[in-house]
Formats: sequence, C-alpha cells, structure tokens
Amino acid sequence: ERAVTVVGAGLAGSEAALSVASAGVRVRLYEMRPLKMTPAHRSDKFAELVCSNSLGGEADTNAKGLLQAEMRSVQSAVMRAADAARLPAGGALAVEREVFSEAVTKAVREHPLIEVVSGEVTEVPSGIVVLATGPLTSDALASDVAKLTGEEHLSFYDAAAPVVAFDSIDMTVAFKAGRYDQSADYINCPMDKEQYTRFHEAIGEARVHTGHDWEKLEFFEGCMPIEEIARRGFDTPRFGPMSPKGLDDPRTGRWPYAVVQLRQEDKEGRMWSLVGFQTGLKWGDQKAVVSLIPGLENAEIVRYGVMHRNTYLNAPKLIESTLQLRAAPRILVAGVLAGTEGYLESAATGWLAGFNAARLARGQEPLTPPAESMLGGLVRYLASANPKNFQPMNTNWALVPDFTVEGRKKLGKREKRPLMYARGLQAFEGWARSVGTSDLVTS
Ligand code: FAD
Repeated sequence: ERAVTVVGAGLAGSEAALSVASAGVRVRLYEMRPLKMTPAHRSDKFAELVCSNSLGGEADTNAKGLLQAEMRSVQSAVMRAADAARLPAGGALAVEREVFSEAVTKAVREHPLIEVVSGEVTEVPSGIVVLATGPLTSDALASDVAKLTGEEHLSFYDAAAPVVAFDSIDMTVAFKAGRYDQSADYINCPMDKEQYTRFHEAIGEARVHTGHDWEKLEFFEGCMPIEEIARRGFDTPRFGPMSPKGLDDPRTGRWPYAVVQLRQEDKEGRMWSLVGFQTGLKWGDQKAVVSLIPGLENAEIVRYGVMHRNTYLNAPKLIESTLQLRAAPRILVAGVLAGTEGYLESAATGWLAGFNAARLARGQEPLTPPAESMLGGLVRYLASANPKNFQPMNTNWALVPDFTVEGRKKLGKREKRPLMYARGLQAFEGWARSVGTSDLVTS
C-alpha cells in the first residue's frame, strides 16, 4: 500500500489528509506557513478562516445546509471542528475562528498516520498527490502546475460575472437567439432606451467592493468590469457587451436599444451567466442592478460577480468528477485550486479528493458521489461546466436536478427545497454506506 502526499493544510488539505488517514493510509502533509505566509493568512494554524467566520446557512432550504449534512455523515473533520467551535448566528454555522483552526490543527497533528512537513513545495510531488494549495498558491508551485496543465488553464485572478438560475428568468420577456444567423444559444434580455438609461444610472451609483492592496488587479480589455465600462460613457456598454446588433426581438421584430446576453454555464442549462458582466460591485448593489435588467427582475443569483486575486484551474478542461487530473490521474485537486469557492466547498472537495486518493493507494477505482447530492452535483459541475471563462463555483441549488412531481405544475422554492435536501442527503448517505466510508473511520 502506498502513501499519499497532500500539499497545503488549508480547508481542503486538512480535510483531505484526515480523509486519507481515516481510511488507514499513510499521509505526508506539506504546509508552508509560518515559514512562508500568504498575503491573507495571519497564523500558523491549519484551516485558517481568512475572512468571514461562517460556513453558511444550516436550514433544509439552504444548499450549504445540505452540503454540511453530507459532510457530517462521512465524519468530516472540518464539520466536527465547526460544531465544537460553534457561535450563535441565527441559522448559520458560524464559528469562533481560533477554536475552529486549533481543533483542526490538533486533529491533524495527533493523527498517527499523518506526518506534517513544514515548508514550501515548489514542484508537484511524485506518487499519489492531492494538491490543495488554495487561492494564494505560492508562485513557484503555481508555475510548476501551469507547466503540467498548460499555462492557459491556470488563472491568477477571478473576473467573474453573476450567474443566475434558469428557473428564475422571466422568459416571457427574455428570448433565445444568436446574433445574426448564429444558433440560438443565448438568452437575451432586451432593453429600451428608458430602461437602459435607468440601468446606466444605477450602475454609476452602485458601490464597489474594496479589496486589499495586494488584490488590486490590472484590468485587461477583455475582463474590464461592467461598472468601469459604464463609467467611460453612456453608450460604451451599448457598443460593448450590451450591443443589440443582430438580435431580433421576436416580440417586436427589431433590434432592442441594448441587450444583456446570458450564456449557459452547465450541461443541463440550470445556470446562466451574464456575458461581459464581470463586476466588483458589492453584493447588495449588484443584486439591485441585476434586477433592473428586463427578464431578471426576480432573478436568483446563484453566484455573484467578483474581481479578486485567485489561483484556480480551468476544471472542466482538466479534471474528472473524481477530482483526478485527466492527464495525470495520480494527481487529485481540491479546494479553490480545483475551481470551487468557499470554506465549506473547499473542505468538501478535500474530503472527496482524500477519499479517492486513499482508494488509489489501495488499488481501487476512484468514485463520484450521486448527482442528487450537493457534493456530487458540485464535482460533476466542475468536470462538465462550460470551459469558456470558467469561474470557481460555490454551492447552490442549481447544481442538483430540479424536483418535480408528476402531474403537478412547478413547485415553489419553499416547498421543493426541503424535498431536494432530503433527496440529496438520502442519496449521499446511501452512497457513503455502499462504498463503506463509515467503516473506514478509525478515530
Ligand atoms: P486555503 O485554505 O488557502 O489553504 C491553502 C493552504 O496551502 C494554505 O495554508 C497555504 O499556506 C498553503 N500553501 C500554498 N502554497 C503552498 C506551497 N507551495 N507549499 C506548501 N503549502 C502551500 N470563502 C468563504 O467561504 N468565506 C469567506 O469569507 C472567504 N473570504 C476569502 C477572503 C480572501 C482574501 C480569499 C483569498 C478567499 C476567501 N474565501 C472565502 C474563499 C475560500 O473559501 C478560502 O480561501 C478557503 O480557505 C479556500 O480553501 P483552500 O483549502 O482551497 O485554500
């Protein structure tokens, strides 16, 4: 039986190391802090929470709640530490950050099968490896990863546009069409002059999130935030990403004054992103601006736009839903590097990467959790999303199949989400039992 190397003891790497070790397989875990710090971390503790202290809402109407429940069912170390460090936070799983990180650090350091090695890894190690070096992966390792995957598939910042759920788009206003005689792959939200004017004003007044100094990005023409495009002039968006050219509105037979186009993000068409709308607007203001777009008045934003420093792979080009690199299946990736976003998502993909690394070490096939589960939905998305402008994804309900009852018209959100939660948890627990994850736990 072979040992597994895990690189990075953040949210993903700590969970991955404990997941491998709980399967009875030896782990060597590398962490560069405190010898070399990242611009965001402050301590030498594992699984440090660099910003908020929340792992998301817990209710059975919340997608994060489902992922938390799935993680608990496989004895996740991060969930155990979170439960021990819990603070009252009205429906969210918030933690006392030092207590939380200390609990994860202790679990890792005390595990007899984990050897912690302090120091920066500058080249992808040989053997079975989990890479979990996060959004601030050190430069040396990032350039070696880029060599392995191709430079063009490793990003160093996010210039993400909001993504909305299809079932929240008003298709009596929006229409499907391509420009001129292109195929009708886009959803188009048409604006008249008055609507455009109001939209342009609102974006000018909206507040921008102010990042840290080290996060300041140079804007390339291709990833200019929409608020910056709008700042350059009244017509600039209309001659750029909001151009109506070649788009006949079926209701008028004419080109609208301006258009917001949406591009399909997942195979099933449950998620659509606003084309050319990368933005650093504060989330509340972003929501208000998006709701001024005809057809998106009640749009559910499943992922907000962000502009910040971030190291991540173009997952759909590179990885399988088992989190293995297609070109080098001995290498698994997890956390933000693998194209997820969020503490919980990082820990969850860390668990799966560790689980599969242990399976590889024992000569077994790696596995993917069921599509109805939140973890299964997330990793399937990573492996099959639209690779064009791929951006890291967080947990949301559009990652799993919709819930329909035969003979009934569409269920409301409040009604269907607890059903999706129960369905997902049952599927995940059944899967976990069938593949024997609970037998593997030794601690
Ligand atoms: P990390 O937790 O960062 O772990 C990576 C680890 O790898 C680090 O310990 C690092 O020191 C180590 N490492 C890096 N390179 C090397 C190397 N070459 N050799 C050895 N070790 C190395 N998510 C949320 O849910 N809520 C938030 O509020 C939030 N705020 C964020 C704020 C900032 C500034 C950033 C950058 C991200 C934020 N995120 C947030 C996103 C993300 O969820 C977190 O960054 C999360 O910690 C990612 O988990 P990870 O395991 O992928 O990376």
